Amino acid sequence: MKGAGYIFDAIVVGAGPAGSSAAYTLARKGFKVLVVERGRTPGSKNMFGGRVYADPIREVFPNLNKSAPIHRWVTKERISMVSGEKMTSLEFEGKKNVSFTTYLTELSNWMAKQVEEAGGIVLTEITVDNFIVKDGRVKGIRVGNEEVFSDVVIDAEGINRLLLERAGLIPRITPNYAGLGVKEVIKLSKEDIEKNFGLGSGEGIAWLLIGDIMEGLPGGAFLYTNKDSISLGIVVMLGSAMERMKEHISRYVERLRLHPLLEKYFREGRIMEYSAHLVPEYVWPAIPHRLYGDGFLVAGDAAGLLLNLGYNFRGVDFASYSGYLAAQAVEKAHSLGGMSAENLSIYQELLEKSFILRELRKFKNAPKMRKNERLYDFYPYLINAIADKIFHAKYETPKIMDAFKEANKGRIGWFTLIRDLYEVSRSI
Ligand SMILES: Cc1cc2nc3c(=O)[nH]c(=O)nc-3n(C[C@H](O)[C@H](O)[C@H](O)COP(=O)(O)OP(=O)(O)OC[C@H]3O[C@@H](n4cnc5c(N)ncnc54)[C@H](O)[C@@H]3O)c2cc1C
Repeated sequence: MKGAGYIFDAIVVGAGPAGSSAAYTLARKGFKVLVVERGRTPGSKNMFGGRVYADPIREVFPNLNKSAPIHRWVTKERISMVSGEKMTSLEFEGKKNVSFTTYLTELSNWMAKQVEEAGGIVLTEITVDNFIVKDGRVKGIRVGNEEVFSDVVIDAEGINRLLLERAGLIPRITPNYAGLGVKEVIKLSKEDIEKNFGLGSGEGIAWLLIGDIMEGLPGGAFLYTNKDSISLGIVVMLGSAMERMKEHISRYVERLRLHPLLEKYFREGRIMEYSAHLVPEYVWPAIPHRLYGDGFLVAGDAAGLLLNLGYNFRGVDFASYSGYLAAQAVEKAHSLGGMSAENLSIYQELLEKSFILRELRKFKNAPKMRKNERLYDFYPYLINAIADKIFHAKYETPKIMDAFKEANKGRIGWFTLIRDLYEVSRSI
C-alpha cells in the first residue's frame, strides 16, 4: 500500500486511451489501481474516425508495434476539395510508420489488457455516479449507494464529463465547444481496399474531404482504410450544424457514401456499423484552468486535450499521453507526501512542457479559422472551377489569373482573399 491505507492508491474513471494509459503507468510502478468503465467492454462506448499517431502512444506502451491492433500504417494522405462532381486533391505518399488506422474499441481493449497484465484491475459495466468529495477534496467514487475510497481519482470520463460537472469542478460543455462525429464502417476485402486505393499490403490512406460534399454543414468528411473495412464519416461543428441540419445527420453520411466521386471505392462493400459521438472543438478556451485539485486529476477528452486541424486529428495520442503524465504526477505527489492540489500541480507543469499544450497553443487560432465558411464552400468551388478551365481546355489554355477571374466572377475581392490566406497561414 502506497498511500493512506485504502484498498486502492488510485481510481481511474473510464477505460478509454487516457484512463488506461494512466492506470497502466501507475500499475507498472507498483501502485494499486482500479479502473471503472461503464461500457460492457473497454472501448465499447467509444468511437473515433480512424487514425492514431504512434510515437506518443509507443512511449506509454513500448510494446505497441508488437501486439497492438494496428490495422494499416498510413502511407498515403489525401486532401480533396469537392464541388459538384469535380474534385481537386493534394496527395502525399511516404512510407514511414508514423500513424496507423485501427478501431478505437480494439485499441481501448488492448490498452485495458495491458493494465491488467501490469497488475491493475479493470471493472466494466459500472457507471460512476459521483465523486466522494469531503472538505473540498476528492476521496473516491460513488456507484449507487456504494463507495470506494482512494488517495487520488483520475477522471478520464471523455467529453461528456458529467462527473466533473456534478462535482462543480468544471462548467457544462456547450454546443459551441463541441463537434459531432458520425461514421459508417463499410466492410471491404483487403484485396479490394488495396486495389481501389492503390495501396501496398498493410498500407493505408487517410483522406479528408471538404466542399459541397458536406451539403452546407460546417465541417469535413473523412475516410480511413482499416484492415478489411473503411471508416467513412463527417465531423461537424455542433453549434452551427444544429441550426442548419435539415434532416437526421445519418442521412448526410448516407449521401456521402453514395456520392458519385466516392461510391466507386467501396461499391463491393457492405455497411457493418453506424456510430455517432461528440468531440471537443474550439478546445483552447474550453480547457479548464486547472486540471488538478485536492485528490483528483483530469486527462484526455474530459480535459479538452484534443487538436483537430482537419488534415490531422490528435485525440487518442493526446489522451493517452495526458494519462501518462497524470500518472507521473501521482508518482511525484506520492514522493512529496500525498495527493494535495499543491503536490499534484506538477501535472500542469508536465503538460506545459509536453508536446500537448505546446501544440494546442501553437494552433490556438485553428478553430477560429475553421469558422470561416468560405473554406467549406467557396474555395472548393473556386479551385475546382480554375482546375476545370485549365485542364479541360479545348483549343486554348487560359492563364491561371484569367481562369481565376473567370471562375471568381467578382464574388470575392482581393482584400478578402488576402485576409483569408493570412488567417490560414496564421492558424495552421
Ligand atoms: C467522430 C470522431 C472522430 C475522431 N477521429 C479521431 C482520429 O482519427 N484520431 C484520433 O486520434 N482521435 C480521434 N477522435 C478523438 C478521440 O476519439 C478521443 O480524443 C479519444 O477517444 C479520447 O480518449 P479519452 O480516453 O479521453 O476518452 P474516451 O475515449 O471517450 O473514453 C472515456 C471512457 O470513459 C467511460 N466513462 C464515461 N463516463 C463514465 C462513468 N461515469 N463511469 C464509468 N465510465 C465512464 C466511457 O464509457 C469511455 O469508455 C475522434 C473523435 C470523434 C468523435
